Amino acid sequence: MSTYPNVQETIDVIKKLVSIPSPTGFTANVIQFAEDYLQKLNVETKRNRKGGLIATLPGTNNDEHRMLTAHVDTLGAMVKEVKSNGRLRLDLIGGFRYNSIEGEYCEIHTSSGKVYTGTILMRQTSVHVYKDAGKAERNQENMEVRIDAEVTNAEDIRALGIEVGDFVSFDPRVQTTENGFIKSRHLDDKASVGILLQLIKRLKEEKVQLPYTTHFLISNNEEIGYGGNSNIPPETVEYLAVDMGAMGDGQSTDEYTVSICVKDASGPYHYGLRKRLVELAEKNDIEYKLDIYPYYGSDASAAIKSGHDIVHGLIGPGIDSSHAFERTHEKSLINTEKLVYHYVLSDMISY
Ligand SMILES: [Zn+2]
Repeated sequence: MSTYPNVQETIDVIKKLVSIPSPTGFTANVIQFAEDYLQKLNVETKRNRKGGLIATLPGTNNDEHRMLTAHVDTLGAMVKEVKSNGRLRLDLIGGFRYNSIEGEYCEIHTSSGKVYTGTILMRQTSVHVYKDAGKAERNQENMEVRIDAEVTNAEDIRALGIEVGDFVSFDPRVQTTENGFIKSRHLDDKASVGILLQLIKRLKEEKVQLPYTTHFLISNNEEIGYGGNSNIPPETVEYLAVDMGAMGDGQSTDEYTVSICVKDASGPYHYGLRKRLVELAEKNDIEYKLDIYPYYGSDASAAIKSGHDIVHGLIGPGIDSSHAFERTHEKSLINTEKLVYHYVLSDMISY
C-alpha cells in the first residue's frame, strides 16, 4: 500500500497542470494532459462537447451514482484590439481586476499555434516619462501587452500572425517552499484537479471497490459559470464540487485545512451532505473549517441552477488571494485529499 496522500506527488501533478496554459475557452491541451494521465491508469474516460472530460469508476451499486468535479479552466484574456502603437489591448476572461496582472509575463497564442511572449503593463509605466504613473487607473484603456518582438504598429503585429481573438495566458510563476507552501496562479482550481487525479490513481492502484459508480468531471467552463452543469448522468444523486476555499477578512478558511462550504452567493449547500462531510472529517482526523463564500458560485451550484435534481456540496483547499497571487499549503492539500478519499468510500446520505 502506497503512502497516502503522497503530497509530493500531488504537488508535482499540480505543477504540471498550472504550467499548461488554459484560460476558459482554450483548454484542449490541459484536458489532453488529464486524459493521458487517466488512460495510463486504464480509467474509462469520455469527452463532452464543451471539451470537458468525464472519468468513470464502476461501483457495487450502479443504480445510484456519485459525481465529483474540479475545473481546469483558469482566468486569462483575449486580444481585444491590435493597437496602432504596436501593443495589444486585452479583454479579460473570468472575474478579476487588472491590478492583479500588472507586470505579469504572458503568452499570446495565435490561431495557427504560434506562441509569443510579452508583458502586461500600464501604458504609463515609465516613471521617467509619466509623472502620474502611480495614480492612473488600471483598466482596459490603460493596460496593454508589450510583445517581445520588434513591432511598432498594427501591421507589424499582424505580420506575426497575432489577431483579435487570440488567447492570452498568464505566467503561473509556480514556486514551492521548503516549509510546505505552494505559490502559483491558477491553484484555483488546478490544486483540486491534481487532488482528484491523485485520488483516482490511488483507487486504481489499490483496486479499491467503490460503493457507488462514481464519475469525475474535469470541467472546463467554470470561471464563466457553467463548467459542470451538464453531462450529469441521470442516476447521479450526490454531486460534490472540489474547488478552492475563499480566504479573507471574516472568513474561517485557511491554507492548512479543508474548507467545507455551507453557503455561497447561490445559497446554502445541501445540509445533509454538508453534515456528512463534517462527520467524515471528524471520524478520520481531518482538519476542516466551515465557511461561507460571499462572492462565489461553483459548478455544483451551476448544476442545481440548470435544473438537476441532485444533492450538492462544495469542499476544497483554502487558497489565499484567490484570482490573484494565490498560495496554499500542503497541509490543505492533504486534508482535502483525505476527505475526498473517505467521501467516495462512504454511504450516501438519505435525503
Ligand atoms: Zn474555481
